[in-house]
Amino acid sequence: MRIGLLNKNPDNYTNTRLYEEAIKKGIEVEHIDYTHCDLILNNNKPDILYKGKSLSSLDAIVPRVGIIKSTYGMAVLRQFEAMEIYSLNSSLGVARARDKLRTLQILSRKDLPFPNSSISNDSLNGAKLIDKVGGTPVIIKLTEGLQGKGTVLAETKQSAKSIIEAFGLTSTNLILQEFIKESKGTDIRVFILGGKVMGSMIRSSNGEDFRSNLHLGGEAKKVKLTPREREIALKAAKEFKLNVAGIDILRSDNGPLILEVNACPGLEGIEKAMDKNIAATIIDFLIKQVEELKDKPSYH
Ligand code: ADP
Ligand code: GLU
Repeated sequence: MRIGLLNKNPDNYTNTRLYEEAIKKGIEVEHIDYTHCDLILNNNKPDILYKGKSLSSLDAIVPRVGIIKSTYGMAVLRQFEAMEIYSLNSSLGVARARDKLRTLQILSRKDLPFPNSSISNDSLNGAKLIDKVGGTPVIIKLTEGLQGKGTVLAETKQSAKSIIEAFGLTSTNLILQEFIKESKGTDIRVFILGGKVMGSMIRSSNGEDFRSNLHLGGEAKKVKLTPREREIALKAAKEFKLNVAGIDILRSDNGPLILEVNACPGLEGIEKAMDKNIAATIIDFLIKQVEELKDKPSYH
């Protein structure tokens, strides 16, 4: 069996762990930098060339498309699907999760709980929407934000207006969102694989920050989920059509609210918090999926 790890940074924790666990299982594995894939399009035999060689003999890929050249990364992912190479997460699921606007719309349509939100493309209208999400303090997010850096908290209407104006200059869309104060700088990450919860951790900010992102210096500990948290996390992964998903949840006075759906969740925090080899479980899952598909006549 041959698998490709589709990513942009082979040296990070998650990609290194997946690589070493695949090797341990005797699988041929390679990192594929999607920005260096050339796509060959035609009506009978679509292909991908990487370093001049065809990738058509791969059995499966693990897509980890980051924000760098993400449009191209998504095209590469779709190309693998056109070549009938199994992808751990489908391009549909990845596309849904990576677009924050689409994520909120899916949560809303599928009756999954999330903080009241509104979206604007116009900084002048943006300020008028503050009351629609319950007034200040209010969370303002840039839709291209990553790892908490595009998310700010405005305490007053005046500061919200200034932030919206400043963000308006950067030409991305804005999300205004009800601030869930009672979550107190913590959130819950639920790691899901193949419709099962593999682990859950509570992440806390270091000190005063309302953001709990580990990349900003937050801490993570194993946590027991309530039945409702488990239920909405599993439902979200299912509705987004993700085999692997990291569902972020805020604990509010009105029950758990989904903050984000990650299609390429990192492994470092969750493996350490759970003291569990999740990378190996992912590789086992992949092997099983490929074997099951091979038995189906339509495959290859
Ligand atoms: P990113 O996608 O960049 O990680 P998020 O939107 O997930 O940004 O926000 C980063 C952090 O800010 C979250 O992990 C959470 O701790 C906090 N946060 C985000 N939205 C809210 C909210 N509506 N209420 C309270 N805290 C929030
Ligand atoms: N996608 C990020 C990574 O590969 C982490 C996302 C997350 O788990 O919050 O490290």
